[in-house]
Amino acid sequence: MTVQGDGHFYVETLGCPTNQVASDKFVGTLLPDGLVPTDDAAAADVVVVNTCAFIEEARKESIEVILQLDETRRNGSRLVVTGCMAERYGDELAAELPEVDAVVGFGGAITEQQQRRLIPVAEAPMPTMDLLNLHRPPAQRPWSYVKVAEGCNRSCGFCAIPSFRGSQRSRDTASILEEVRSLQAQEIVLVAQDLASYGVDRPDELGSGSIVPLVKSVAAEVDRVRLLYLYPSDLSDELIDVILDTDVPYFDLSLQHVSKPLLRRMRRWGDGDRFLQRISDIRAAQPDATMRSNFIVGYPGETDDDHAALVDFVEEADLDWCGFFAFSREVGTYAYDLDGQVDANLMHERLAELTELQDAITAGKRDALIGEMVTVLIDEPGIGRSHREAPEIDGVVHVDAELQAGSFVEVVIEEAWGPDLVAVGGVMPDGDEEIR
Ligand code: SF4
Repeated sequence: MTVQGDGHFYVETLGCPTNQVASDKFVGTLLPDGLVPTDDAAAADVVVVNTCAFIEEARKESIEVILQLDETRRNGSRLVVTGCMAERYGDELAAELPEVDAVVGFGGAITEQQQRRLIPVAEAPMPTMDLLNLHRPPAQRPWSYVKVAEGCNRSCGFCAIPSFRGSQRSRDTASILEEVRSLQAQEIVLVAQDLASYGVDRPDELGSGSIVPLVKSVAAEVDRVRLLYLYPSDLSDELIDVILDTDVPYFDLSLQHVSKPLLRRMRRWGDGDRFLQRISDIRAAQPDATMRSNFIVGYPGETDDDHAALVDFVEEADLDWCGFFAFSREVGTYAYDLDGQVDANLMHERLAELTELQDAITAGKRDALIGEMVTVLIDEPGIGRSHREAPEIDGVVHVDAELQAGSFVEVVIEEAWGPDLVAVGGVMPDGDEEIR
């Protein structure tokens, strides 16, 4: 069917923050066509699933969501699958899921109307829409992700992303700043597959280290700027300083492991001692700095000693937040054929041990905040976040429901519930009403 004018669309976004940016961008292409967003998939004329293909678990979830939405959607609606799964397994998806009306790669046409616009009228090849540079509507929330580059130049052993997202392509600083302004959000979260490498693929105009002036420029536009996914070798002194200067001392370090031989098998830089040194440097400069990291458990060849080194590191580093992921054997990656694949039961035992250890560390750090006054940005009635919580990733601060979304208020932490905090008080935006 052809949808235009008063048609409705529904978008389900799975996976990582960068996928949310892609969803915002194609929403930006649907609105000018007169389509109206709806939260009700059953009422939509176009149902879009923006999938994630990162690991097997994510792919299973994507398929389940596609099938659920196929049951929910109304007769005659168009079911479109896009995102990483469409990009990586497009042909298989189209063959295996006859329920799906269209499988569309990055920047492809979502509606039939858009499809017609992409049909070439001359022999010259038509450029596909470049998602990175598409316009986005203003943010619906007080914070928003902004993607500064697409693709990755590294070759981490476990990761299939470069094979389907391609090499890194950094955006122009001017277009990033234009997007930041148009979003009208109080907090901007900068993302890319390898954020700190922003600019290295454009040595003449940008170059290595360009993330530093970019962060400064974004910080001049908004109240808060936060950075996600920092590869440790690119965390320079200049970058640490500029992050501390933004008043959001939040460091998301993509460490993945700490055992040097295992990191080399992962084709990654660094080791536990260097990471601890960097963490201690940051804490020396700003004791209140918040740290997050992710680790892969059960990478091929991970020995009992490697695991013990990671456990010791987690204890010593005392990070605020950590994510642990079981190794997933991805077709087309270097690690797929590596010897020493770790038994699934052992992998899950190691994962459980690390998760339990970190949960206790995180809970202790949250308990230590009881009685402190913190500044939170109100995301929605009843929910705020200080610099310590990245949206959709870390815990939240529960606040009085009367505090207005989009405002910054000072609250006092009264309780901790695992990763979440409960606060009282708060000065309303007009400054004269205090909630107790
Ligand atoms: S830095 Fe490594 S893990 Fe991250 S996207 Fe690039 S290849 Fe994948």
